[in-house]
Amino acid sequence: MKKIIVYNPIYSDLLKILQKHFQVVELTNVENPEFIHELKDAHGIIGSGLKVDRTLLDEAPNLEIICNISVGYDNLDMEAVNARGIMATNTPDVLTDSTADTIFGLLLATARRITELDQYVKSGQWTGKIGEDLYGVDIHHKTLGIIGMGRIGKAIAERAHFGFKMKILYHNRSRKLNAEEQLQAEYVSLQKLLQQSDFVCLMAPLSPETVQLIGKQEFSLMKKTAIFVNGARGQMVDEDALVEALKKREICAAGLDVYEKEPVEPNNPLLYMKNVVTLPHIGSATLETRYKMAKLAAENLIKGLQGEIPPSLINKEVFI
Ligand code: NAP
Repeated sequence: MKKIIVYNPIYSDLLKILQKHFQVVELTNVENPEFIHELKDAHGIIGSGLKVDRTLLDEAPNLEIICNISVGYDNLDMEAVNARGIMATNTPDVLTDSTADTIFGLLLATARRITELDQYVKSGQWTGKIGEDLYGVDIHHKTLGIIGMGRIGKAIAERAHFGFKMKILYHNRSRKLNAEEQLQAEYVSLQKLLQQSDFVCLMAPLSPETVQLIGKQEFSLMKKTAIFVNGARGQMVDEDALVEALKKREICAAGLDVYEKEPVEPNNPLLYMKNVVTLPHIGSATLETRYKMAKLAAENLIKGLQGEIPPSLINKEVFI
């Protein structure tokens, strides 16, 4: 029986299925020296967020497949994974709508100051008439710029176009003609998107190309009234530049689900700004979706170790 490592707790019914096929080792603490020991004869690993690099792979000579329970796979050094002929899988599609709901919710919460005003009511400050100092800004009929018009970017754009009658600008490596047709989305340069959008939403994957994609220069191009939303990865933004842009009122507000360092440091200045709405990286975190993601990852693992092509193989070019 092949051995697999489950490095995040997994749903008990899925665990039982995996146990029927494999010898399962559950290790939730990857810092534990036992983890390295177990890697030596492991054929598969499943979980989310494990940093897989050459050093780790050197400890895992029998590894055949790595199954991420996430769509992003910036935790994997794909060059090293490919060089070893290891399959890597992710969980696309099943999380698209839930993540789009969260990120659009973050946009709404930031523009209409929902979390700030929730605190205002609960802390007993609502004692009279509400003044302009507590007003938010409109979302409907405004311009939304999406950087990374992939599955989730497009699902956000659908909500914006059909629900809020927003104009959609997008920037991507390649044009997305179906988004242009269905949502009247306009393909623009990054510079034009930053200059013309009322809301700038980052939804591209983290890669060497997108590290610190948004920094001082990019914030300076945005409208003073712009709201910046990051639903992708924190490392794509220069966080010091974001703090500066917010402090200097170069942009109006930010909604963040992701940070340069996670969990976010308690002294991070972003946590003390009223015009910043923060979430703890919960884009896909609903009961239904997290289960679907784990199920898909388990299917990938079973298929892969049975010698079949897993349904969401990332490095297809190596195996097909
Ligand atoms: P996807 O379908 O692969 O979409 C990514 C899009 O980004 C693609 O259209 C791609 O364009 C584009 N892109 C790639 N590099 C770019 C660049 N340098 N500049 C502009 N656009 C670029 O992936 P997805 O399923 O929508 O997920 C997107 C990302 O969201 C994930 O990688 C993950 O990091 C993040 N995410 C976050 C959460 C959360 O909890 N906050 C949840 C799920 C996902 P091309 O097709 O032209 O290459």
